[in-house]
Amino acid sequence: MRDAGLRTGLGWDLHRLVAGRPLVVGGVEIPHDRGEDGHSDGDALLHAITDALLGAAALGDIGEMFPPSDPAWKDADSRKLLAAALFRVRAAGWEIVNVDAVIALERPRILPHREAIRASIAETLGVGPERVSVKAKTSEGVDAVGSGEAIACWATCLLISAEAPV
Ligand code: MG
Repeated sequence: MRDAGLRTGLGWDLHRLVAGRPLVVGGVEIPHDRGEDGHSDGDALLHAITDALLGAAALGDIGEMFPPSDPAWKDADSRKLLAAALFRVRAAGWEIVNVDAVIALERPRILPHREAIRASIAETLGVGPERVSVKAKTSEGVDAVGSGEAIACWATCLLISAEAPV
């Protein structure tokens, strides 16, 4: 079968929001009265992006690569997890074309932080910010996100074979 040298990936993650934890979104700490619960820093956006990349390269998922049972990842900066996953994706012969993501969070508003989040993700991925899109939605007061109990994130990515002609 003809192979176009392209792969898409999808990632999703949700973390509970609790008092006494920082709210870290895409590697950027956002002032809020609660933050993500989790074994690592709980950065749901970076976890979704990590899974999108691993998924596109068919390299498994974040839970497999960084087991919650492993104390090495306790309170870990999720940028390190994403960079480690990207290293594997590149080693398998893939480069990033683009990443697109949606953050579902009732409050605080993400818009004032969006460009910082895009820049942070782009820097971690080693690509220009024009290849990284971040959008934010609320849940209209419905469900765990709507009640402020959780943050949920979706991400997609496109990978191109490093051997593909430019
Ligand atoms: Mg997670």
